[in-house]
Order: sequence, then C-alpha cells, then structure tokens
Amino acid sequence: MASDTIYLNGEFMPLEEARVPVLDRGFIFGDGVYEVVPAYSRHPFRLAEHLKRLQNSLDGIRLANPLSDAEWTALTHELIKRNDGDDQSIYYQVTRGPAKRAHEFPLEVKQTVFMMSNPLVTPPQAQIDKGVGCITATDFRWLKCDLKSVSLLGNCLLKQMAVDAGAAEVVMFRDGYLTEASASNVFIVRNGVLLAPPKNHLILPGITYDVVIEIAKANKMPIELREISEHEVRTAEEIWVTSSTKEVLAVTMLDDEPVGEGKPGGTFRRMHALYQDFKQTVMRRAA
Ligand code: PMP
Repeated sequence: MASDTIYLNGEFMPLEEARVPVLDRGFIFGDGVYEVVPAYSRHPFRLAEHLKRLQNSLDGIRLANPLSDAEWTALTHELIKRNDGDDQSIYYQVTRGPAKRAHEFPLEVKQTVFMMSNPLVTPPQAQIDKGVGCITATDFRWLKCDLKSVSLLGNCLLKQMAVDAGAAEVVMFRDGYLTEASASNVFIVRNGVLLAPPKNHLILPGITYDVVIEIAKANKMPIELREISEHEVRTAEEIWVTSSTKEVLAVTMLDDEPVGEGKPGGTFRRMHALYQDFKQTVMRRAA
C-alpha cells in the first residue's frame, strides 16, 4: 500500500502531487484552522471531541465547516486505511481558500480542505522515566489561543527558543500566571493536589487535558482548575506537559532548576499508568 496518501479538496492523492494555489488565504494570511487526531491501532482517539473543537475553531474565525461530522469521520477512516502504520497522527486543515489578496473575507468562499497522515511518535521510554527539561517565557501570543489556528508563528518562535536552549518545551506565563506550553497544556502538583489553568481564551482546550482531568476525577485524585501563579509553578512538586503526541510527560527541570526532586513524581507515575490503561480500554472498545 502506498505511503503518504493525502486528501485534498475531494480527492485522495500522493503527497507529492498535492498543490494549493499561492493565493490561498492559508498561505497569505494564515487564515485557517487545524486539528491533530491520534489514531491507535488504526482507531481515531476521541474523534467526536476533536470534531467539536474543529467546529469551535471554525466558528471562532467565522468559516463554515465544509464537511459534516459523518463526512470527516468517513474520510478519517479512509485516510488511515490508505496509509501505513497502525499508529498514525491525522492532521486536518481548513483554510478560507484562494482569493484576491485583501484582508477582509472574500464574498465567495471556497474552503481548502487538506488531510494528511504522519506516523504517531509518542515519547521514548527514557523520556517517560527521566522526564524532560523546559524553559519559561512570556506568552506573547494573541488573545484567541483557544482557537486552533494555523497562524502559529508565535508558537513556532517560542518552540524554537526551547530547542535553542536544548529544552523540550517552553512553559509560558501571561501577566504572572501560567497559560500553557508552545504545543502542549501544563499541569502542576502542589501539596498533592493536581492543578491546571481553567479553559478560557488564553489556552488551547487540549483533548489530552480533558482526558487527564477525567482520569483524575474518576480515580478520586484531588484536582483544582484555577489560575496558577508563576511562583506556584516554580515551587511545584511536579510539572507535567500534556498533548496528543506527548501524552503525559513529566517536566523535571525548569530553567535549569530541578522540579521537586528532579525526577518524575509519584502523581505523574500514577497518571501515566492510568492514561495508558484508559487508552487501551477505549481502543479495545473501538475494535
Ligand atoms: N496547547 C497547544 C498550544 C497545542 O499546540 C497543543 C497540541 N495541539 C495542546 C495545547 C494540546 O492539545 P491536545 O491535547 O489536543 O493535543
């Protein structure tokens, strides 16, 4: 079976053959939204939640959803089938399509719909066992971080800062409070209580964030969603980053200072194991 089959505007084709007009507003303005759906054993994980977030992002940029949820679902399964690998990362992108360059929306919109599959790469065991180092930075992104917009220049600049520092991620603060990381949500543990910033316009509502909260509640782990000060992060017992590809990962160094004892904490180890169990149960049910 051919690898790297993508979907573009109604057709499946090899990646090398895919073309988008240079006047596409995604290219000119970053005027579009995206999703990343992990698929385990060829089953998309939490697809309904991803489609809901996609709809929310589209509503947030006033762009009509070009496909029904049933169509997205069928295309997702077809794309998974046409690509190699049991575990895949499915990328969706919808832009406001090609139009003469002008900031305001075109009167007639023909959305560009693109889907591709990449191998799903989750953290290696050494990272799970040892944790990762992160740096911190001021969150200088815009005030609609809840929309999964393809305008990711802020996130790219921030992530590069982390890479330049040899760190895995950059943990961000806005006005002295924790927001998220450049491509993941952030949880901390203080006095044995799991804390995370509430969902609002300052963070992406992560699908993994929701799963972690669900697991914590189901297992009676104390959890609070509230604003978290920079001081609370810097003196936390544990810090985690979460995302569809990172899953749950312990941050053991922050700006060259050890977090807690400098190794993944007990609450992390418990959550990591519960997360793996949860995934397997969901996948077994889907099979
Ligand atoms: N925040 C940002 C800025 C992200 O890019 C991501 C990854 N898409 C997340 C949080 C985590 O979201 P999810 O758990 O849905 O992957």
